[in-house]
Amino acid sequence: MGRCEKEPAVILVLDQAQADLAGPELTRPNCPGRLRRWGFARIRSLRSSAGGRVWLRPRRVRCARCRVSHVLLHALAPPHRAHTIDLVGQALLASASGHSHRAIGAALGIPADTVRDWIRRVRARAEWLRVQGTIAAHTLDPMLREIAPAGSALADAMSALAAAAAASVRRLGPTAPPWQIIAMISRRQLLAPMRSG
Ligand SMILES: [Zn+2]
Repeated sequence: MGRCEKEPAVILVLDQAQADLAGPELTRPNCPGRLRRWGFARIRSLRSSAGGRVWLRPRRVRCARCRVSHVLLHALAPPHRAHTIDLVGQALLASASGHSHRAIGAALGIPADTVRDWIRRVRARAEWLRVQGTIAAHTLDPMLREIAPAGSALADAMSALAAAAAASVRRLGPTAPPWQIIAMISRRQLLAPMRSG
């Protein structure tokens, strides 16, 4: 039987109702302990698409077994990022269709270095993301045809994740906007730091 990692984990949730439940059905890192409400994490402000801003007050929960606290972060907020997942997704799709990080940054009003950092991180795990997307897509829709190659590792990852999000909507209904579904399918690894070594 697993235990919570010593480090507090960030648990992505699709909506506040799910966060408010914080019950045994909530996915958490490897531990069967019950999660109980434990106040709130600091308020976060995120840049969203079209120049908007989103404010979030993530709930904290604490494992009754290990006494480690976790943060329930809404899937629209990539961990440790100042932009919403939808805005990140727009930048990634533009990159997959061949636009430079400078052009994307200028078009979306994001510093070019930030866009380049996102693209590097996703490219570094593009094959892993493609596999996650492909498995999720075929699990959610066993009748799905093979996902066609899209021309680059990044584009292949994007198209597998998009196929998975579409399959999720067909199977489960529109549970969340597509990029939030993709954030869940990528198990919050979309923009995770690159492994050293
Ligand atoms: Zn635990």
